Amino acid sequence: MQEEKILLSSPHMGTEEIKNIQEAFATNWVAPVGPFINQFEKNLSEYTQVKHAAVVNSGTAAIHLALRILEVGPDDVVLCQSFTFIGSSNPVTYQNAVPVFIDSEKETWNMCPEALETAIKYHLNKGKTPKAIIVVHLYGVPAKMKEITAIADRYEIPIIEDAAEALGSTIDGKACGSFGKFGILSFNGNKIITTSGGGALLSNDENAITQARFLATQAKDTAPHYEHSILGYNYRMSNISAAIGVGQLQVLKDRVKARRENHDFYKKIFGGVEGVEFLKEPQGFYSNRWLSCILIDQPKNPNLSPEPFRKHLERNNIESRPLWKPMHMQPLYKDALYFGGKVSEQLFQKGLCLPSGSNLTSDEKERIKKSIHSFLSK
Ligand SMILES: *Cc1c(COP(=O)(O)O)cnc(C)c1O
Repeated sequence: MQEEKILLSSPHMGTEEIKNIQEAFATNWVAPVGPFINQFEKNLSEYTQVKHAAVVNSGTAAIHLALRILEVGPDDVVLCQSFTFIGSSNPVTYQNAVPVFIDSEKETWNMCPEALETAIKYHLNKGKTPKAIIVVHLYGVPAKMKEITAIADRYEIPIIEDAAEALGSTIDGKACGSFGKFGILSFNGNKIITTSGGGALLSNDENAITQARFLATQAKDTAPHYEHSILGYNYRMSNISAAIGVGQLQVLKDRVKARRENHDFYKKIFGGVEGVEFLKEPQGFYSNRWLSCILIDQPKNPNLSPEPFRKHLERNNIESRPLWKPMHMQPLYKDALYFGGKVSEQLFQKGLCLPSGSNLTSDEKERIKKSIHSFLSK
């Protein structure tokens, strides 16, 4: 009998989610408005300590709304982290603006402050002030926000903080998503908590969040009929999704704990293995360890290379995946400007994400361990 597939990161429901859905049905709030939406927004705002939150139907939509509110338009430059999921940067293209990609630094794998400043100066010299910076906290490890915020403030460029993978992560106790002008979250099915699909826009600017809600509702003006003066979108979250979200947020702490335990589990397995590295947490940084990733230094360990290792796991019905392929290497963005060196390219070549769900059972972990050991002992 084929054993069941062990997934990279699958949904993990608590006990309240289904009760909340039943309540939504019982009260017939099966719509993109309703009490769970208000509740979820309030709880997210309390959790992140950002004054206002608007939930939407994806993290990508939240980034798009942030760009609209910052009035990013045709030919405007937006500085984006190259090493990320494409949902970070595609909204720039939706606005017919120009994404310019920035390399990562080695310590957190996120936006390199020096490369960021170089890119800003390059554009200022051409008389073009970048309209926004989109920084990402990849795999749950916070970016160097102190350095990045100092640069952004110096040149007065607003930050959109993509915390899609980093709900539960902090720097000196302050939540990821609370550092920028805007923070965005994702509740896609593979994230640390999920609403099946969804996202949120966070900001301390009340007007901005009011405007986001307006744009997410087809920019419908106040009138008895349907009146529209500007372009909007249908980006609202369903009350059913929000009902799931309210339950999921209650168990976030447990989910972070379980994912951090996964990370320790892998650190133990690879403890004595030459050439295998993990992402460390710099002083004061706390990661939700959304995905556990390893970097394989091939010259140090010629028997261990990412792709044969991935295939070996796959034969054992265990899912693993290369790290994000940088945006400046994507065919879609081949003509985009890029600032930095080879850090993100090398991460892509050397890295692998391992199964990291908070719902991994001890039997599954045993299977993973055996499979890794059998590859290492070859
Ligand atoms: C998941 C993710 C997004 C987009 O979220 P969706 O809800 O899938 O649209 C954006 N950025 C990063 C880094 C992500 O991992």
